[in-house]
Amino acid sequence: MTIKLYNTMTRSVDEFHPLHPPVVSLYTCGPTVYNYAHIGNLRTYVFEDILVRALKLAGYQVNRVMNVTDVGHLVSDADSGEDKMEKGARREGKTIQEIARSYYDAFVADMNRLNLLPPEQWCWATDEIDTQKAQVEALAEKGFTYVIEDGIYFDTSKFPDYGKLSGQNLEDLKAGARIEPAAGKKNPTDFAVWKFSPKNEQRLMEWPNPCGIEGKGFPGWHIECSAMAIKYLGETLDIHCGGIDHVKVHHTNEIAQAEGALGHPWCRWWMHGEFLTMPKDDGGGKMSKSSGEFLTLAVLIRNLLQRGVSSETDAALSYRYFLLNAHYRQQLTFTWDGLEAAANAYKNLKRAVLELRASYTGGETPLADHENKFNEAVLDDLNMPRALAAMWTVIKADAPAGEIYATLLKMDEVLGLGMAEMEEEALAIDPAEIEKLLEERTAARQEKNFARADEIRDQLAEQGIEIMDAAGKTTWRRL
Ligand code: AMP
Ligand code: ZN
Repeated sequence: MTIKLYNTMTRSVDEFHPLHPPVVSLYTCGPTVYNYAHIGNLRTYVFEDILVRALKLAGYQVNRVMNVTDVGHLVSDADSGEDKMEKGARREGKTIQEIARSYYDAFVADMNRLNLLPPEQWCWATDEIDTQKAQVEALAEKGFTYVIEDGIYFDTSKFPDYGKLSGQNLEDLKAGARIEPAAGKKNPTDFAVWKFSPKNEQRLMEWPNPCGIEGKGFPGWHIECSAMAIKYLGETLDIHCGGIDHVKVHHTNEIAQAEGALGHPWCRWWMHGEFLTMPKDDGGGKMSKSSGEFLTLAVLIRNLLQRGVSSETDAALSYRYFLLNAHYRQQLTFTWDGLEAAANAYKNLKRAVLELRASYTGGETPLADHENKFNEAVLDDLNMPRALAAMWTVIKADAPAGEIYATLLKMDEVLGLGMAEMEEEALAIDPAEIEKLLEERTAARQEKNFARADEIRDQLAEQGIEIMDAAGKTTWRRL
C-alpha cells in the first residue's frame, strides 16, 4: 500500500518511499530528562507512534532511533544560561545520573500507558560524546566553524542552504532573530556545536575539548541528534520527526551540521507535529517544561479517575483518544471538557468492543470495505479523525458481530486503543445485592414511597449501575 505524508521541507503531501525498502529509517527527537514530559510533549510522541504504525500498515519495517538528552540543552535558546540537567539536579538535590534515570523511567512509563511502541534503539547523549566530538571536528576541518571565548560555533553564512527547512533565507532569519548575538558571534543565527566550561565554575558534566583545544567543555544540544542519527541510521535518513517548534532552530541546525559534515543531502523527509495549546483563559499558548507550569499524564489520569473513569488504563487511553480526534498538523487546544468527552467516547467504544467480542469465535475475517476506508484515511497523511469515523461506522454496521470485532482488532493495530486487552471491570456491588435492592425499590414504588425508590436509584448509580424501567419490568446495566 502506498502512504502519502506531508514533508515540511517541500511543504506538500507526497507519496513516501524509503531509500532501502522494506526498511524505513526514522529518527525522532526524544525527551530532555530533567523533568516529567508534559501532555504537549506527549502529543508529539503519540503523533510519531501513529506514524510508525501507519508505516507498518503500508508494509514497511521501521528502524526507529530516539535520543535521550542528558547534557547540553541550555535554558536559553541563545546558547547561554544553565544546562537544564544541571539545573534539575540542583533543584532536587540529586546527581544528574539520578534525575536522568528517574525522568527517563517516568517517560517510559508514560509511553507504556499511552500504548506507544518503543523505538528500536534508544541513545543517550552522554554515551556518545566521542561521536559528537567527531562531528565537531569534521565541521572544523571543512571550515564551517570558528572559535570564540565560550565555545566552537557553526558559521551559518558558510552554509548557503541554512534556513531551507523553515523556508527562510539567512537574511530573513537574521532580521527576525530574537536571540541576542553572543559576544564575538559572526551572525545572530550562528550556534554553538561545543561549549567551553566557564572558567570560574565547576560544571557537573564536562569532557576534554575537541579539535586539540585545551580545557574542557560539553556538546551543544543540536549536535547530539545529527551525530547520533548518522551513527545509528547511516548517511541518508528516511524520516526525521519532532514538534513544530523544532523547525526553525533545532532541526535547521541539525541539517547544517549533518550536511556540512557529510558534504551531501542528509534527511529525505521531515515531519512535525503541531502544538497542544492551553485555552486562553488558562494563560493560553504553549505549555512549558522550563516554566514548571504544565500538566502531566499522571495529573490527567488522577482527574479522570475522580470523574468516574474506571481505571488508569482507561484514563490514559482516553487521552490518546482525545489526541486522535485532531489531525497532527493542526493545533489542538486542551480542555477538561474535551478530555471528558473523549473519556465518554472511549467508554462507549469499550462497551461496544466487549459486546461484539462476546460473538467472536476467532475465525472471522475483517470487513474489507470498512477496513479499506480506514486504511485510506490513515495512509492519507495520517488522517486519524477520518480513521476514527471509519471505526465508528463499522461498529454500527449491519454485519455479523464477530466480523465487526475482527475489523476493529485490525484497525486497533494503528489506533493503539488497547481493544484486545479491554476488560470488564469487576462490579463494585454483587449482582445478587443489586437484585435485592431492585425488589425493595419495586415494593417502595408500589407503596408510593418514591423518596426511597429514588434513594435506591442514586445508591446504585454511585456504584456504576444504571436502572431502566420498561414494560413493567426493571433491568440494570453498567453505567
Ligand atoms: P523537549 O523534551 O522539551 O525536548 O520536547 C520533546 C518534544 O515535545 C519535542 O519534539 C518538542 O517539539 C515537543 N513539544 C514541546 N512542547 C509541545 C507542545 N506544547 N505540543 C506538542 N509538542 C510539544
Ligand atoms: Zn533532536
